[in-house]
Amino acid sequence: MTVRTDLVYDPPPMDVHVVRHPIVEDVLAALRDRKTPGDAFRRLARRVSLLLVAEATRDLPLYESPVETPLEATTGRRLAARVVAVPVLRAGLGLLDAFLELVPEAQVGYFGLERDETTAVAHRYYEKVPKDLGGAVVFLLDPMLATGGSAALAIEGLVELGARGVRLLSVVAAPEGIALLRTVAPDATVYTAAIDRGLDARKFILPGLGDFGDRLFGT
Ligand code: URA
Repeated sequence: MTVRTDLVYDPPPMDVHVVRHPIVEDVLAALRDRKTPGDAFRRLARRVSLLLVAEATRDLPLYESPVETPLEATTGRRLAARVVAVPVLRAGLGLLDAFLELVPEAQVGYFGLERDETTAVAHRYYEKVPKDLGGAVVFLLDPMLATGGSAALAIEGLVELGARGVRLLSVVAAPEGIALLRTVAPDATVYTAAIDRGLDARKFILPGLGDFGDRLFGT
């Protein structure tokens, strides 16, 4: 049998969108500040998430729909996509509220991923995700793209359920995590507020903002 090389799937390089906006910069600086208390951190996380979600949903398909205004009939445009948001527990919950504010009809799934404190290797301990993700626009919510291990694991799980072109929303990303996803998930797209310098020995992002989940939940 001869192999048809013209049919070999050669995905384009993974897209990374750094959301450039003065409010994003301002909120990020406050999130990074170690003196920012938990209640303010939660509000700021929501605020930056709204801007990330707005950017990541910019190209969602629409359909035309008749609307009666108080004055006359017109045509509006409504979201046509089946949208699924999947926060990675627990830090991803910090982005979910903003996501549902902007896309209230989204279905929501959950991945529980835990990274070993010493090896920084992630494993899945919980999974509750809508089945048959083919045709859905799937958003993975994981605020810190560090090694990329947990995002890669979650994207693998979503692809097993039929998802394609997963959109990852991260508040801060490290070059190491982006490099891993470029290799294992080239058809994913990353939306982030910043690409930081790199990881420390404990695989925390530098300068970063510390442990997002701990700061969000005050642990
Ligand atoms: N997870 C976090 O919360 N912070 C980091 O810097 C890396 C992973």
